[in-house]
Parts: sequence; C-alpha cells; structure tokens
Amino acid sequence: MNEKDHDYAEICQEVRKLCAGFPGAYWRELDRVRGYPTEFVSALTQAGYLSVLIPEEYGGSGLPLSAAAAILETIQAAGCNGSACHAQVYMMGTILRHGSPEMKAQYLPQIASGALRLQAFGVTEPGSGTDTTALRTTARREGDMFVVNGQKVWTSRAEHSDLMLLLARTTPRDQVAKKTAGLSTILVDMREAAGHGLTIKPIRTMMNHNSCEVFFDNLRVPAKNLVGEEGHGFKYILDGMNAERLLIAAECVGDGTWFTEKSVAYAKERQVFGRPIGQNQGIAFPIARGYAQLQAARLMVREGCRLYEAGENAGEQANMAKLLAADASWACAEACVQTHGGFGFAEEYDVERKFRETRLYQVAPISTNLILSYVAEHVLGLPRSY
Ligand SMILES: Cc1cc2nc3c(=O)[nH]c(=O)nc-3n(C[C@H](O)[C@H](O)[C@H](O)COP(=O)(O)OP(=O)(O)OC[C@H]3O[C@@H](n4cnc5c(N)ncnc54)[C@H](O)[C@@H]3O)c2cc1C
Repeated sequence: MNEKDHDYAEICQEVRKLCAGFPGAYWRELDRVRGYPTEFVSALTQAGYLSVLIPEEYGGSGLPLSAAAAILETIQAAGCNGSACHAQVYMMGTILRHGSPEMKAQYLPQIASGALRLQAFGVTEPGSGTDTTALRTTARREGDMFVVNGQKVWTSRAEHSDLMLLLARTTPRDQVAKKTAGLSTILVDMREAAGHGLTIKPIRTMMNHNSCEVFFDNLRVPAKNLVGEEGHGFKYILDGMNAERLLIAAECVGDGTWFTEKSVAYAKERQVFGRPIGQNQGIAFPIARGYAQLQAARLMVREGCRLYEAGENAGEQANMAKLLAADASWACAEACVQTHGGFGFAEEYDVERKFRETRLYQVAPISTNLILSYVAEHVLGLPRSY
C-alpha cells in the first residue's frame, strides 16, 4: 500500500528513515508556536530530496516527476509536513523552462544546493482570488529596473525564502487584447528587497503553514530578473501547474496513507463492549472506503506522471488526480477522527493536526470547484461557467 509499491522504493526507504528523526512531538511543538521546521527542511535539502527535478548539469539529480511525487508522498505518509518546502521542488521549473541561459546558470545550481531558497510564489491577491488575470500588482519598467507596487496574499513561506516568483501586470489590462496578456513573471530577490519596498506580514491560520501577506511599495527589481518574455507570464505559470497538481496530489495520497494506517491500528487495538471497535462495520467501512478512494487517486497520480514524463498533455489527469487525492485524504481524515472517538481531538495523537493540515487541499493551490470547472469545460466540452 505504501512506498514499497513504488519504482523508487530505495529512495522512499531513505526518506522514511530521515522522517523518523522528526516525530509527532517535533511537529506538535511547531504547530503550537506556528514555527517553521528549519531542521527538517535542512535535512531534506542536504539529502538532495528537494533538488531531484533539477537536471544534473545544474547540480540536481535529474529524476522524473514520479520520483518527486514518491518523495513527497512518503514525507506525508510518515506524518511529516512537506508543505514547508514542496515549492523548492517544483517552482524552479519556470526558470528551467523559460529562463535565459544566464538566469539558469546563476540560479539553478544555488537552488539545487539549497544556498538559495525559491519557496515563495506570489500569485494570489486579495482582490482577484481565483480570477488570476484580474490581479492588480503592477511592475512598471523604468530603465533597467521594474518598479513593483501592489499586494499579494497567501504567499506561503515568504519569511523562509530567498527568492519569490512574482506574477505582476506589466501592461495595463485596457492595453491588451486578452486579459491573459500583459502579465509577467519576475524573480524577486527577497533578501535585497526586505525593507526596501517589500513588507511581509504572517497570517495566522488553522494549521501551521507559514503563509503571509506581502506588500510592494515602489520595490525596485532589476529588469534582468524577468523570466522569459515580458507579457507572457500567465502562460508560464499555467505551464507549471500540471506538475504542481500532481505533486500536491501525491502529498494527499501520503496523508491518506498516514490516516488509514492510524485508523487501522487503533480500530484493531481499541476495545469497547469487549471487542475491537474495528469489528463494527460502522467503523470499518469508512476506513475501507477511504482506502479504496486513496488507491484510485494513487493510480491517477501515476497516470498523470506517466503522461507528463512522456511529454504529453497531462492536464486532465493532473487536475483529476488533485481532485481525487484531496477528496480521498479528506475521507481518510474524517474516518480517522471518527475511529479515534474523543482521542481524535487530543493533540498527542497527531490526528487533529493532520486533519487540519490536509483540509487545505480542498482549497489550495486550486480549489475543488475550479478543478470541476476545468473538467466540465476542457474535458467534457460543457459551456464555460466563468
Ligand atoms: C494556506 C494557504 C496557502 C496558500 N499558498 C499560496 C501561495 O503560496 N501562493 C499563492 O499565490 N497562493 C496561495 N494560496 C492561495 C490559494 O491558491 C487560493 O486561496 C485559492 O486558489 C482560492 O482562492 P481564494 O482564496 O481567493 O478564493 P476565492 O477565489 O475568493 O473563492 C472562494 C470560493 O469560491 C469558489 N469559487 C470562486 N469562483 C468560482 C467559480 N467560478 N465557480 C465555482 N466556484 C468558485 C472557490 O472554489 C472557493 O471555494 C494559498 C492559500 C492558502 C489558504
């Protein structure tokens, strides 16, 4: 059911070993103080797990997407929380695919070694939400600089990142034919920017996610930090979405695995009315249903990765994998709380923490509704709803 079924069994075994050094108590303490798992992220970085997708010529291990999926799934299945650093795995793809040779040579080796953390993704804004092309942050060209003004919200890991991949409008909306045009992706060096037009404000959330509001006030960014061509940024962001969806789906599969293992163990051990609670179908069936959902989602993640690695369009499968996996992990989470009865609510069991953590994936990085809209419109040919 777990990593033993993967093509990357050895890597997964090593990841499991690493994760064993970060038990529930470690995550519980961070959860209490909303702290960042610096030691955990350093250990993953040093072991090279966050640079698996970076080609060898830039210092990574040049493995396919399914390897990254297996690693992230294993981290979650071990009870750890990869959301603290999963962006380091895939966000560099925008530079890799669209950056100039100079940009790649400058940044990718440092991202691979962990000397530079590319963990912040500045897309969502309070005013636009899911309607990304309505974003209002602007980057105005002034000589060899961009001057950035505006605000982002839910920029995860902003306080623990050196670089941010920013999506901003470089041509006003009324001067472009299509709303998707005139947006650009710019690499912001947050170390230089902090205190010089960049302000970061953490948002306290129901789980420990280190997400922030980010404010730009005449922030000056060198024009050479533009990724790819000016005005094509939206396309570049979309380009990276299938990989992101598949990797997050793999994390949900990992969460579901953790919940199911916990549920099964407790349902066998806990005796009420003189027999194990797992003997009651009211307890066993939700666990079994969650497991079935999980396995279906796992297959869709694999199929999405297979298509992606073959260079085919994996849009349908990547979106459906994210939908099915988020639903499966949530079903497993719900069954796990119910199986544990009152103890499902006790911090020391970690169930309530994981329950809060996995709930996010119904909303971010894309909400379930928007995936259903994608499938309805792009797969089934139904009329566009928005
Ligand atoms: C903890 C956390 C971390 C995040 N990290 C990042 C990050 O690092 N970088 C980043 O850029 N963003 C990040 N996000 C933002 C995330 O991608 C958005 O929250 C998500 O895309 C939904 O956008 P919204 O919150 O503005 O909701 P809204 O767009 O306001 O939508 C609210 C609800 O309405 C529904 N809805 C909206 N339009 C439609 C429609 N046409 N049809 C059906 N339903 C619709 C949505 O599905 C949602 O349920 C994060 C969010 C959270 C909570």
